[in-house]
Amino acid sequence: MKFASRLKRVNESVTFRYSALAKGEGVINLTHGVTNFNTPKRIVDATKKAIDEGKTIYTQTRGIPELRKKIAEKLYRENGIEGLDIDNILVSTGAKQIIFEAVMALINKGDEVAIPDPSWVSYESIINIAQGKVVWLKTKPENGFIPDDNFLSELENSNPKLILINSPNNPTGVVYPKRIIKKIVDIAERKDSWILSDEIYEKIIYEGEHFSPGSIYDKTITVNGFSKEFSMTGWRLGYGASPIRKIIDKMNIIQSQSVSCAVSFVQYGALEAFSNNVKDDVKRMVNELKIRRDLLVDGLKNIGLINYKNYKPNGAFYVFPKLSDGNDIEIADNLLRNGIGIIPGSPFGSSGRGCVRMSYGSISKEKIGEVLKRLKKVS
Ligand code: PLP
Repeated sequence: MKFASRLKRVNESVTFRYSALAKGEGVINLTHGVTNFNTPKRIVDATKKAIDEGKTIYTQTRGIPELRKKIAEKLYRENGIEGLDIDNILVSTGAKQIIFEAVMALINKGDEVAIPDPSWVSYESIINIAQGKVVWLKTKPENGFIPDDNFLSELENSNPKLILINSPNNPTGVVYPKRIIKKIVDIAERKDSWILSDEIYEKIIYEGEHFSPGSIYDKTITVNGFSKEFSMTGWRLGYGASPIRKIIDKMNIIQSQSVSCAVSFVQYGALEAFSNNVKDDVKRMVNELKIRRDLLVDGLKNIGLINYKNYKPNGAFYVFPKLSDGNDIEIADNLLRNGIGIIPGSPFGSSGRGCVRMSYGSISKEKIGEVLKRLKKVS
């Protein structure tokens, strides 16, 4: 059977595959890109109310105006992004769909798209679906996976139509310093490249500060969503924004011809996400995640599995230790046999070779202790 050639370099998401493998009996599952906190009650209640009130039909393709207004205000107030009217905002079925639409709207066959190595697995696949050319920009564990001079010169030597950045970062958990993001913006400006800033983990930061490149560079598409901050991965709600209205209009064309709009009542429920009450729920979640992060990172250091002093997973809910110079797929299989489910590092990019991604988003403190015991035994 012959299928479309655009799928030749695209595989099923490796994180979903390893998550399925880690569901076996007795396996402690550190594969999940989700947290085990409940969606804040106010959001749940407002969503139920919207269903009861019959808000169950298609909305405007861009999203309900009330929600886009709240998002535009948030991006101005908290991220310093100016020039956003409600028509500069596109609400969709998750940040992933927004990233897909942005890449589809910008990238022709052979166009270069620069992404950090390692990166969230879907970037490469989405670029491949668009038949663009991935330019990997290496980050190294010994530099804490923070873009260094070598990264910047690789970027300088490429010709990207689009640069994807993601801070706090999946899979490494690092938060890019403002001065580094500014250097990336300088290069983008000189090359007239677009930036897509994936800020989905923005509110899950333990040390350091988030910086949005969209606050200093208009040719930026800022992407964010409700999945991680409000434990709403299954609700499918995210958004993109740019002061350059044309890109949002083009993305909206793709949206209108694919998913049509985000789920109506979910959008109404999400209006509550901007309330102070819900902000307190998020703070509680981040405090708990920090305790888990400290337990896991300190434990990994104690048994000699994090050896790079510059490596500080200050955000998101992932740790990305380098366990050996060897084959991380074999490491993942071996750990699975020993009751630990993780995601191997190399599918995130060649800089992830020998690394594994451990998520502490949905695992108890007790289980972290057990993971460390099992790791000690096998390492
Ligand atoms: N961006 C990154 C870096 C992610 O890790 C994820 C999900 O794991 C997403 C985007 C997708 O988010 P959403 O659930 O809003 O599609």
